[in-house]
Amino acid sequence: MEALIDYFETIPSLDRTIILFGGLAFFLMLENVAPFFRFKNNKVKHVGLNLFFTFTTIVVNFVFAFILLAASSYVDTHQVGIIQWLPLHIIVFTFFGVMLLDLLGAWLAHWVEHHVKWMWQFHMIHHTDMHIDASSANRHHPGESVIRFVFTLAAVIIVGAPVWMVMFYQALSVTLSQFNHSNLKMPKWLNAAVSWLIVTPDMHRVHHHYRQPYSDSNYGNIFSIWDKIFQTYRKVDNSKLIYGLDTHMEEENVNQVGFLLKAPFAGYRDHIQYPSEENL
Ligand SMILES: [Zn+2]
Repeated sequence: MEALIDYFETIPSLDRTIILFGGLAFFLMLENVAPFFRFKNNKVKHVGLNLFFTFTTIVVNFVFAFILLAASSYVDTHQVGIIQWLPLHIIVFTFFGVMLLDLLGAWLAHWVEHHVKWMWQFHMIHHTDMHIDASSANRHHPGESVIRFVFTLAAVIIVGAPVWMVMFYQALSVTLSQFNHSNLKMPKWLNAAVSWLIVTPDMHRVHHHYRQPYSDSNYGNIFSIWDKIFQTYRKVDNSKLIYGLDTHMEEENVNQVGFLLKAPFAGYRDHIQYPSEENL
């Protein structure tokens, strides 16, 4: 435990980069060996586009990193925040802290992005991907990266997370997001076992179906428990899913950086209402 704290307390930027790109390479390879869908798209082009948005996410987080670190050091030194107030054993402190960061900084942020129209305008870029794979994990409009940063900052303050915990959480968050977006076919028994605790690709795929109410379910990133507690969990036969977003199904547009960067400012497009008998 001490070693984990020491490592993440002073994790070098290079190691954070290796975790991000190493994880991406690992899951791209794994999904290539055992793919769920047999996509016919140009994989290099697809990954390239998503890497552009990964890069903008890195830039936004880098620019604001000093605020996050300052807030985290402050709450730790002054013992502010939920886990700072409770007399917890270090293992429970870590587990509970990471769970709360996942709830507030990821699950809640994601839920709000689906329910507040101007935030959805930014988040929808993530949903326009019609070939979800490990590279889709970081396909976020720079505007969304700012929104997510604000939620993460608020979560760190409310939770009272020290710097090492924030770094540990972010490493877990990025890796598990790549995992749950990967086009990986997992054995049923393994999926069933893992999904008790962790969000699996089978669970998250439903969130990327092209229409509601499926896209408004399974918001989780690390822990699968939140969607079950807040009743936003939906189990669907994954083979019936269609990726994308019903309001933006023009493939030439959603594969274009310029279109995607401008899309949040192009006006709100209402979701299409489908008769309930068409449901999966
Ligand atoms: Zn979403």
